[in-house]
Amino acid sequence: MEPLEERVLDGNAIGGLLAEVFGTEMTTATGACGSCGAAGQVAELAVYRPGLGTVVRCRHCGNVLMVIVQIRGVACVDLQGLARLT
Ligand SMILES: [Zn+2]
Repeated sequence: MEPLEERVLDGNAIGGLLAEVFGTEMTTATGACGSCGAAGQVAELAVYRPGLGTVVRCRHCGNVLMVIVQIRGVACVDLQGLARLT
């Protein structure tokens, strides 16, 4: 049996994936939560890998900041939860 609680990773776990998507190193970029406004380095965000993709959440309010899904080897990134990413 898999534990029900998902293991929480951090942004470093997806550094390679983000570099592939954005073409640059993203773990040192600063993301701001679109819900609570908390800003922090991508490396410090909470990352979950429930199986079908990667979900990045705000550590402060749990808002989903990014969803990354790989479809036929192409990574699709949804950044709608982010107020900004700089
Ligand atoms: Zn937040």
